[in-house]
Amino acid sequence: MKKNKQEQVIIKEKPYKLNIVWILIVFFIILMLSFFYVGYVKELIYQNIYQNISELSEQTATQLNLFITDQKNFVSIMVDSINRGYFKTPEQIFEAYQGDLENYNFTRLVILDREGNGTTSDGYQVTSYANIAEFFEHDEVYLSENRPSTVTNNQVNIYSKTFKMNGEEKVLMATINTMDYQKILLRRLFDKGGTYLINNDGTVLIDSFNNIEESNANFYEYVKNRYVITTEKEEEKIDKMAQAIKNKQIGTFDIKVDNDDVYFIHYEKVNINDWYVVTTASDETIAKQLFTLVILSIGVCLIINLLIIAITIYIDISNQKKNRKLYRIAYIDSVTSLGNVVYFKEKGAIFLQNQTAKNKYIITLDINKFKALNNTYGYGFCNEILKTLGKKLYNLVPIDNITCRISNDIFASIFSYEENINELLDTIFKELSRIEIGDIDIHLNLSIGAYKINLKDRDIKKVLDKSDMARSKIKGLYHNNYYLFDETLENQLIEEQKIEACMEEALTNHEFIIYYQPKISTQNEKMAGAEALVRWYRGKEIIPPNKFIPLFEKNKFIIKLDLYIFEQVCKDLVAWRKKYQYMPTISINVSKEHFVDENFIDEYVKICNQYNIETSCIDLEITESATIDSNINILKVLNNIKAKGFIISIDDFGTGYSSLNMLQNMPIDIIKIDKVFIDKADLSSHNNVINYIMFIAKNLGVKTIAEGVETKEQMEYIRDIKCDMIQGYYYSKPITKEEFEKYFNKNK
Ligand code: C2E
Ligand code: CA
Ligand code: CA
Repeated sequence: MKKNKQEQVIIKEKPYKLNIVWILIVFFIILMLSFFYVGYVKELIYQNIYQNISELSEQTATQLNLFITDQKNFVSIMVDSINRGYFKTPEQIFEAYQGDLENYNFTRLVILDREGNGTTSDGYQVTSYANIAEFFEHDEVYLSENRPSTVTNNQVNIYSKTFKMNGEEKVLMATINTMDYQKILLRRLFDKGGTYLINNDGTVLIDSFNNIEESNANFYEYVKNRYVITTEKEEEKIDKMAQAIKNKQIGTFDIKVDNDDVYFIHYEKVNINDWYVVTTASDETIAKQLFTLVILSIGVCLIINLLIIAITIYIDISNQKKNRKLYRIAYIDSVTSLGNVVYFKEKGAIFLQNQTAKNKYIITLDINKFKALNNTYGYGFCNEILKTLGKKLYNLVPIDNITCRISNDIFASIFSYEENINELLDTIFKELSRIEIGDIDIHLNLSIGAYKINLKDRDIKKVLDKSDMARSKIKGLYHNNYYLFDETLENQLIEEQKIEACMEEALTNHEFIIYYQPKISTQNEKMAGAEALVRWYRGKEIIPPNKFIPLFEKNKFIIKLDLYIFEQVCKDLVAWRKKYQYMPTISINVSKEHFVDENFIDEYVKICNQYNIETSCIDLEITESATIDSNINILKVLNNIKAKGFIISIDDFGTGYSSLNMLQNMPIDIIKIDKVFIDKADLSSHNNVINYIMFIAKNLGVKTIAEGVETKEQMEYIRDIKCDMIQGYYYSKPITKEEFEKYFNKNK
């Protein structure tokens, strides 16, 4: 029967759950921000490159322009002096300027006639110079594009200006190695880039790094062929450049090449012969810069991201911790670590919704007189009892159970069970009746109720009620140990439902009638008062209170009924006062259900005022069991009642195990000795419970009354032990109002 289960905290804590979706959203947002940031940085770098590349071109173009202008000026000066007639022969000219040639980077001077015949400053004879006409077309100093030297076959450029010597038209040419321009263009700022000098058609005159192998190449074709240009749109950019150069404009742009690389191009006017300096740069360097930046950015973003995620997780977990704490407060019983009543009802409802198993049960287990145990052993020890009991119960019922402590000393469990339930209940009773706490062996007086849940049951409160009903059937009986809800109870339940259906109506129809039972003084056998006892006249039937009072206490209708009875008594008192100028002291039962509201008594006082009845004429009977209900602050309740002037009796005294200690502090006037002690009394012995109660009463200075006195012997015994009053059939049964009027007129 016993399952091999470890001792455990019975409600298991789930591990903390991370809110992945939330974290992903945060991560994604940060990632997007990173992308934007990288894009922004890239944009900045591009701007920077645009600026660098155009500045570089501008400088190069300016330098080239200065260099060429200088040379042009020199040629101009030479021709000026020739025109002034200083020289008679070409040799004289060569001799005069030989020394300056090197300063101006000229390799030689050449003087030719219209046929292309002549001499050079370094002694060569030139005949029929190719394209000689080109040099006679210009009035100003002319600069040719590169061409091979007739002397060395090197690439050269030629400055020229025509003049007249001895009446004959001639041209002065100054030759410069194209390489000398290249030196100016040769500025390295970007990897994989270059500087080009091109003419108006895009023909490459000079290529600073000799990137282009073929001579007289076209720059536009070169770019288009050299790289894989991905889209037509990119190609158009080159055509646009060609067009811009034709229109003598300058500009910068970038194109995507080789799939992802970017190639930056700036073209700048030299202002000589429509020549352009073109500077190019690939993004490899930039890529490196960008890469570092991106890595840096991503790194920073990642750290921020991780930080934010860490914070998110932290907040999330602490929220969950808080929720768990709230959950514990709301659902878990701190003494036993089992669920509490709220937990039981919630989980139980789910259990009922999802039921598939055939045999399901709900049991409730009550520790009788737990209050007395508390008084004897103290709270700490009794908490240990509860803890041990809870754990044992949890381990005795089948594994998938819901076991909770649903009130101070009541446990409930719900589970499926296919074997013999009676055997299980028997085992539970036996195992839990005796428990060991440390070295101490405790015997517990338990009552267990059980109910077999059927498929139609969906309301946890109802099944709990049925199990409670079964339990109350055996509460206080020492030999029975458990009760399984059966047909008798089912019928009782049906009966109760019938009563509940008509109780409100019964109240408005005045079906509840008061009977009065006189109380007789033992000293002079005169009437000392009476107790008001309710009867229900339902048609011809008179229903006794034990048939409906317990139900009304359960469904709280007793609160209405008690107030109704109280008001009826007041009405009777008013009538008697008028008719007989006499008002007996009337005892009225007040159920403990009122005490939930500590100020309930105000309602009673209001009614007294309404009928002009002194509160001191009324004795309120409160059962002893109410005084030991741990849910009630009884002292406060009693003090409130006393403060309003009512007489207070403790009803059914001796059955409730109230402590002397508490009694001492309670403002009570009368103790009503319960009928069971009168029945049981060994009238010859002086050593019974009654004597003990009398002893307590005397010590507390309160009056006593004995209930249920039926025989002469009992009456004499009670009288002899100096009990103040007697209420019982010996003198009178509870009687109707009319009978009671006659009675008190005779006996007052
Ligand atoms: P209780 O307050 O202990 O009332 C005394 C009960 O003992 C009455 O039963 C009374 O008829 C019965 N009794 C009195 N003398 C004798 C006797 O010599 N022999 C026997 N066998 N019985 C005697 P009753 O009227 O049936 O009332 C039962 C219980 O119902 C009361 O017990 C009280 O707890 C409750 N009750 C009655 N009326 C009211 C009411 O208006 N409000 C509340 N809250 N409870 C009421
Ligand atoms: Ca009573
Ligand atoms: Ca009583």
